[in-house]
Amino acid sequence: MNAEKIRCLIIGSGPAGYTAAIYTSRANLNPVLYEGIEPGGQLTTTTEVENFPGYPEGTTGQAMMEDMRKQALRFGAEIRTGIVTEVDLKQRPFHITVDGQKEIEADSLIVATGASARFLGLESEQRFRGMGVSGCATCDGFFYRRKDVAVVGGGDTACEEASYLASICRKVYMIVRKDYLRASKAMQKRVTTTDNIDILFGYNTDEVLGDENGVTGVRLRRNDGTTRTIDISGFFLAIGHHPNTELFKGQLELDDEGYIKTIPGTSKTNIDGVFAAGDVQDPNYRQAITAAGSGCIAALDCERFLLL
Ligand code: NDP
Repeated sequence: MNAEKIRCLIIGSGPAGYTAAIYTSRANLNPVLYEGIEPGGQLTTTTEVENFPGYPEGTTGQAMMEDMRKQALRFGAEIRTGIVTEVDLKQRPFHITVDGQKEIEADSLIVATGASARFLGLESEQRFRGMGVSGCATCDGFFYRRKDVAVVGGGDTACEEASYLASICRKVYMIVRKDYLRASKAMQKRVTTTDNIDILFGYNTDEVLGDENGVTGVRLRRNDGTTRTIDISGFFLAIGHHPNTELFKGQLELDDEGYIKTIPGTSKTNIDGVFAAGDVQDPNYRQAITAAGSGCIAALDCERFLLL
């Protein structure tokens, strides 16, 4: 089968991918963007977005992604449904396989595959996923209003999610494996001064408990081996994210946590013609606006590369 030739291929449809598509289409690079497993990316699983400049009244993640998508289409970007299943970056043009069958030869590649929430890896956690177990409090917290819930983790995300949940739930337990919070001082203050947040230090989760209707509780194990069960209806994970870089292992240079390494101040990877943007190369900021900014950088780097 003949491979389709594409000048600029973008993988991923969050703010980084769409912004790269807007810029590269305006630069007449005829970009093709594959949306991947989660069209619109992580933002589509959030509710309100209030900190993206230009939306004085705020918006929703879903609406913002739809707007970015439309903006990219307006300038001629081709947006396709499909999952990239293989990449061969050894030589240019790069060889890409979509959905295990379609072959593409790309002159340049912008990787914007994002990151996903991490889970503990317990069998019971998987069993109740979507039935009380969630990786995103802002997406699913609403279903647990006036109920008791738990958040696992002691970082900024866990504190942020616990604060949010405390505003709608009756009681929020934070399950923290160490005897201190890793979060910033400001976030620590926020959770320790909220009346209906109870921080359980030094606990790990043994098992998520439940029945056919969903989660009913969780069994915790203290570092000294003693166990304790708490009754909850919602169990939220906030233990960090992992970058979606499985496709690129052994080809692109990754850091210890699997994030794509870029040359500081640029989107350039260790392979000429391959650029990375958004959360897939950013373990720190992980904001819609920083992802969009880095999508712009990747598009400009890509344009310069192709026009050389
Ligand atoms: P972090 O890596 O900062 O924190 C992860 C937390 O989860 C830690 O408390 C960690 O525990 C815990 N954890 C990890 N694995 C497990 C496990 N298997 N079982 C139990 N607990 C576990 O991730 P975040 O998502 O919180 O933050 C990522 C980055 O984003 C940070 O730089 C953060 O500052 C930033 N951020 C900033 C925000 C803000 O400023 N408003 C909001 C959200 C994020 P341990 O400490 O023991 O390792």
